[in-house]
Amino acid sequence: MNDIPVLLWKMTRRQFREGVDEGRIVGAIVPVGSTEQHNEHLEMVHDTASAVHVARLVAEKLSPRVVVTTPLAIGISEHWMDHRGTLTTRPEIFVELLHDVCDSLKRGGIRNILIVNGHAGNTRPVRDRLEDLRRRLGVNLDFCPYWEAYSKEDVAKYMASGNCPGHASEFETSFALAAFPSHVHWEGVDYNRAKLTISNPEQVQKDRDFHEEAKLATAEKGQAMIDIAVTWVAEKMRGMIE
Ligand SMILES: [Zn+2]
Repeated sequence: MNDIPVLLWKMTRRQFREGVDEGRIVGAIVPVGSTEQHNEHLEMVHDTASAVHVARLVAEKLSPRVVVTTPLAIGISEHWMDHRGTLTTRPEIFVELLHDVCDSLKRGGIRNILIVNGHAGNTRPVRDRLEDLRRRLGVNLDFCPYWEAYSKEDVAKYMASGNCPGHASEFETSFALAAFPSHVHWEGVDYNRAKLTISNPEQVQKDRDFHEEAKLATAEKGQAMIDIAVTWVAEKMRGMIE
């Protein structure tokens, strides 16, 4: 059984079909993220990669009952368009695409769907339309940003900055160092000489603060935070399929 992948896009149609028909596969996680600036040192894929990472570990924990779909890798990132390279989509487009992914799963025989979010900008637009999605889809549907797993105590214990999730700061950089260290690129970063084009004066200081806080990151903190998120999301998913 373990040789059957949990990532839907790595499965054959036979593996998926037989898994559903034989009652092994009963739930799906849809990871949603972004492709957006993550300060000077972190890859733009971070929110997508982190959501997929958590989703995959949860699915492996609940194997073979849960699969992970292809992520929505472009999120709602209008607020970061000052930083070139960021890709964004309109909230209504994002939520409708999400609807279509969930509808495809439903048509494939999956009735328990958890959307796991890695990008804060997606949270409000999805939550605002969640009831509407449930009504239209008629499936057992839920949504969670994975960092909602963290209590105040967790943040105080693991984050020296006291800031979580923040943006490309201590938390996300720690996550990346633990999960995919090749995504962290401190080499050649010179924040003071960077030609930034930040239009909102409040963001100028915040961006610099995030840059400084990111230097506090370690892989150990990241692993501890990942473990907490995986346990929490797995409980949520387990509750949906049982
Ligand atoms: Zn991020």
